Amino acid sequence: MTVYYAIIMFIFGTIFGSFYNVVAWRLPRGESIVKPGSHCPNCNHMLTPIELIPIFSYLIQGRKCKNCKQKISPFYCLFETLTGIIFCLCYLKFGFTIELVISLIFVSMLLIIMLSDYQTMIIPDEVLIVSLILLLIFIGIKGGIKLVLSSLLSGIIAFFLMWGIKKIGDFLFKKESMGGGDIKLMFIYGVYFGVKTTILTIFAASFIGLPIALIMVGKKADHEVPFGPFLAIAAIIFVLTGFNFDILQKYWLHI
Ligand SMILES: [Zn+2]
Repeated sequence: MTVYYAIIMFIFGTIFGSFYNVVAWRLPRGESIVKPGSHCPNCNHMLTPIELIPIFSYLIQGRKCKNCKQKISPFYCLFETLTGIIFCLCYLKFGFTIELVISLIFVSMLLIIMLSDYQTMIIPDEVLIVSLILLLIFIGIKGGIKLVLSSLLSGIIAFFLMWGIKKIGDFLFKKESMGGGDIKLMFIYGVYFGVKTTILTIFAASFIGLPIALIMVGKKADHEVPFGPFLAIAAIIFVLTGFNFDILQKYWLHI
């Protein structure tokens, strides 16, 4: 039965992934996420239901637009697959529990942010606000108002901590060291992870991001490297592995 549900969760994830693609592309550009419907960016041909099936449509159409035969980037298909895999793994980790709903809201936000920050260097406020509200509602269902308030407090502490780090960074490097979006994002990390694990995700993100940033600088890429995608990757790994500050501390004490 678990396999059956895992497959359903994967399919469910690809459908959401397809929608997140649209959100991450349109929101930073100030476009509506519902109108117009999905269309080919080359010939504006409106996609019919059969062309909107995640992954499947892409493969069956020979990776081309049905109308103008323009090649479609594999990027969308890969993102849909990735979302499907992450939804599936969240189900395998949490089962059908309230934690599953909370984790899906959180990873969905991370996936959209990863994409929009990578493509446009913008973390849209709308995504943060909607995710925060949804998270607080389900945290409330899980643990009542007490848990909501303590989560909010962690969010506030994480936010100001990150704001302080940014101010020091700006002073040391004499330029913007971190985007405003990253700092607002830390508010939500605080709500989900608590303060200590949030700090750990920042370290993990730097650890993942540093080699990639060095390669980009080495290649003299004109495009600045956004930090958001690395923060998102680190957080997704933490959610899926259940890694947190307490586990790290326990491990340290055993050495
Ligand atoms: Zn076309």
